[in-house]
Amino acid sequence: MGGIKYYSTNRNINEAGFIPFKGLVSFKDALMMGQAPDAGLFMPERIPNISKGELEDLREKRYFEVAHTILEKFLYGDIESDHLFKLCKEAYNFRVPIEKVHDRKYVLRLDQGPTASFKDFAARMMARLMGALKDEKKSLNILVATSGDTGSAVGEAFKGVKGINVFILYPEGEVSGRQKKQLDTIGDNVTTLAVDGKFDDCQNLVKMAFQDKDLTNLNLTSANSINIGRILPQMIYYFYAYLEKSEEGEKVLISIPSGNFGNSLGCEFGRRMGLPLHKLVMAVNENDEFPRYLNNGNYQKLSPSKACISSAMNVGHPSNLARFFELYGGNVDKSGKVHKYPDLKKMQTNLFSVSISDQKTRDTIKNVYEKYNVVLEPHGAVGWAGLEAYYHDNGDYPLSISLETAHPAKFPEEIKSLLGFEPELPESMKDVDMRQGCPIRIENDYLKLKKFLESTIENK
Ligand SMILES: *Cc1c(COP(=O)(O)O)cnc(C)c1O
Repeated sequence: MGGIKYYSTNRNINEAGFIPFKGLVSFKDALMMGQAPDAGLFMPERIPNISKGELEDLREKRYFEVAHTILEKFLYGDIESDHLFKLCKEAYNFRVPIEKVHDRKYVLRLDQGPTASFKDFAARMMARLMGALKDEKKSLNILVATSGDTGSAVGEAFKGVKGINVFILYPEGEVSGRQKKQLDTIGDNVTTLAVDGKFDDCQNLVKMAFQDKDLTNLNLTSANSINIGRILPQMIYYFYAYLEKSEEGEKVLISIPSGNFGNSLGCEFGRRMGLPLHKLVMAVNENDEFPRYLNNGNYQKLSPSKACISSAMNVGHPSNLARFFELYGGNVDKSGKVHKYPDLKKMQTNLFSVSISDQKTRDTIKNVYEKYNVVLEPHGAVGWAGLEAYYHDNGDYPLSISLETAHPAKFPEEIKSLLGFEPELPESMKDVDMRQGCPIRIENDYLKLKKFLESTIENK
């Protein structure tokens, strides 16, 4: 089947000693490899189009139906339409509420999945795509290091997917009590390993396992956020929200609280497919590498990252910046070195970016609650403050949708100190504190991990 092929963002780097990957790979290979052999990120050779008519036909469709139509534009050559439909229906079995704040300004709540984070949307689809496209005869083994939330989103996403085992390593002393419960109690085909060490140690152990030639036959793979299989599903909710709230022919302003820019990239792909976007607001916390560049043309890598209360966005140099640069004709590598500058004017036409301080984030949580009775958590508040910054600078007030990327109940202390109450947990997490889990404890010792993986996977 001849579907859309994928290339590496590093393919044109011309430097002594560097071997760029010039090939094109299928979606399946890009999905299984995660990253290109030259450490570049995979990009589709073209972005398919959705016509106005096709888009209008999607009005009043359910979320998983919208997902099927959008994803099929990319995956028509890789997976049968009926099969993809079934996967979409399985992946998106929870609500996607759009809450009115005032006038035609809305919050899109992406916090109703099993781990109450927007990462559920991408991880659940990627897990099912991997399950569908993997070699039927061999089991696939996913190895993840996590400092908390990503691990549980990935673990929950793969739970019950046949032929795939997941091993999650987390630093025993560095996750919160609730995060630990979430991780330890996934169960089924998901094993959690509580490592006696730090997050960096977990990452190192995983890295060593991937590089270990003795483990090649274990068919190990990663499931990290740069995987193209996690980017594509992040286009869908923009279309869905547009279809729910817009009038025909209207454009929508979307604001995204951003860290590694995977979520924003999904929106940019959507715009290129034909989503009528007024402008894309990329709101970041105090990690302001991108807004500084966009507004002044001065690119400087930010390192180390700053610790803000919107902790999932504490990213100095966003990994998906490479994909944004690529889309605008430039090139930047993982280390933050710019090989070619993108078309800044064009970027400024489509994108607006602003850095929101922790103080502003807290003020926004308070103001939005007091004025509109809407509860935001720190990430969503950065998004909302981004919208307000856009209105302030531009003086226009189009139909607007701001993303809430996690549930406020995941930040009980912060919300309590600002608003005076603890938000109730979403349905999906109501029983989390009662769950009983038993992780496997493991020392920070690669040989022990290796033995464990070899003996466990052999017996599965
Ligand atoms: C991961 C995450 C983000 C940032 O998303 P990116 O795709 O990395 O920009 C924002 N909010 C929450 C709650 C997250 O977990």
